[in-house]
Amino acid sequence: MTLFERLKPKFWDYQDIAAGPYKHLFNFRRIWNLAVVLVSLVALIPLVSITLIDYGVTRHSVESEVLLRTSRLVSNTWRTVSFFLAQRRSALDFVVRDNSYNSLRDPVRLSVILETLKQGFGGFVDLGVIDSTGLQRTYAGPYKLEGIDYCCQGWFKDVADKGVNVSEVFMGFRRTPHIVISVKHDLPNGSFYVLRATIDTDRFNELLADLEVSGQGDSFLINKDGILQTPSRDFGKVLDKIPLPVPDFSPKTRVYEESFPDNKKLVIGYAYIHDTPFILLIVKQKDELMKPWQKTRLQLIGFLIASMTIIIVVVLSVATYLVNRILLADQKRIMTLHEVEYSNKMASIGRLAAGVAHEINNPLAVINEKVGLIKDLFTIKDEFKENRKLIELVDSALSSVDRCGTITKRLLNFARHLDVKIQTVNLEEVIRDVLGFLSKEAEYRSITVSVNVPADIPRFDSDRGKLQQIFLNIVNNAFTAVKDGGKVDITAKREGANLISVTFTDDGCGIPESDLERVFEPFFSTKTRHGGTGLGLSITYSLVQELGGSIGVQSEVGKGSSFIVAIPLKMEKKEK
Ligand code: ADP
Repeated sequence: MTLFERLKPKFWDYQDIAAGPYKHLFNFRRIWNLAVVLVSLVALIPLVSITLIDYGVTRHSVESEVLLRTSRLVSNTWRTVSFFLAQRRSALDFVVRDNSYNSLRDPVRLSVILETLKQGFGGFVDLGVIDSTGLQRTYAGPYKLEGIDYCCQGWFKDVADKGVNVSEVFMGFRRTPHIVISVKHDLPNGSFYVLRATIDTDRFNELLADLEVSGQGDSFLINKDGILQTPSRDFGKVLDKIPLPVPDFSPKTRVYEESFPDNKKLVIGYAYIHDTPFILLIVKQKDELMKPWQKTRLQLIGFLIASMTIIIVVVLSVATYLVNRILLADQKRIMTLHEVEYSNKMASIGRLAAGVAHEINNPLAVINEKVGLIKDLFTIKDEFKENRKLIELVDSALSSVDRCGTITKRLLNFARHLDVKIQTVNLEEVIRDVLGFLSKEAEYRSITVSVNVPADIPRFDSDRGKLQQIFLNIVNNAFTAVKDGGKVDITAKREGANLISVTFTDDGCGIPESDLERVFEPFFSTKTRHGGTGLGLSITYSLVQELGGSIGVQSEVGKGSSFIVAIPLKMEKKEK
């Protein structure tokens, strides 16, 4: 048995034979499908839409937050780096304004100034004074760089032009990466000199390395050719070229996304540092930044799946429950109709029987009287007395009249009991009355019917008409089940003070175990092709209930069946 067959609701394969032209009204599977589809759609569409909208909005806000945070970090770092350089440039400006050219030419004085700058600002490595021809006149610092000629170097030309220069990181004569800040000062004679200071790049590197960049981020400076000015964790060491394109100039901080490498998404924030060759870059891994979103996303999807499952389970159960109830109500309706039809039929039969019995009783009385007279005459007159043949004929006529009398009495009895509700009944009499209707069939098919009602069963108050119907239905079924020459046994038993049981046992075909539970269901029949309606036992069941009793069945296929009816001896006198 498949799972579906096990879970299949009652109405699934139900065919309403009694529905006639209104079949479409009673297509329960269609009603169920319609209910399930419509209710599911009405419940699921808003749920899915709201979840999708929420999904989009949440994702968008997390992305915006990521971009905003990166932009803020770039701005702050940009301010720190710019301030670091501007501060040192201003210090040099102050030195050239505060000292005459001659005093700066004095190596001792220059060393004192260098010492002061180192202590005041930090980051200064050496100081040099260069005349307008590019020659380093005086030098204070750890190297021997006095007398070096800078006239052909780009930075010197630039400072001569613009008055100030911040160089890119370069190796220079000393072979270590450093940057140089130089300021020009004009002399009264129209000439000029340049004060040049070397700044330790370690200070820079520390500044950027100390930054806490989330999302496995990396922060570094590059020049306009994409050459690293400070070391980067992911893209190489100082003076390497980064594998990313150099971002376009922008006067403000900007953040954009780039796929690199192996389609890894990067969030890149950058800012150009004014009056220097530097661009500050902060690069973060987007996947890392979006991790909080992954968790929210899982929660949203989990919520959606759980809600959808609950909705579908509830819709399926409620629809199945309701359609099953409609089916039951409909079956009850049809059963009641049949019951009414059945009672009407019984009432008509009763009236007819009573009419016929009355009509026949009168002529029968006449025949009885006349034949009795003839018999008397025969016995008085000697000429007939000895004629045994004639006497036998008259006796047979009288016994036939007697039999007719019994039949009319039974008919009248049957009709009378249909109207009366509760009365004192004799169980054996009721059973024999019912068998009376079937005696011809029993005789014809040689079915042996045995009745065993023990003497301890008293007369009791009950609805005789109902008892008749109950017994008639059960015996009728037993007759259908047995073969010609079969046996039906009816045994009554007293069960305690207030209960009797009547067991109808036949040796017929029996009932398969799978059908045993269903025989009392309305419309369950294995004889639909032979005129069975499946209502006999269900009506019997409700009649037994109305009498306050119960009915059960035991059966074995091929051996026969037993229907046991338990009836209370005292019945509450209440009308249906
Ligand atoms: P119907 O007789 O119209 O089919 P019932 O409600 O009286 O309807 O019986 C339902 C079914 O129960 C029958 O179709 C038959 O299969 C089974 N049944 C009832 N009584 C017996 C019996 N004595 N022996 C075997 N099967 C029976």
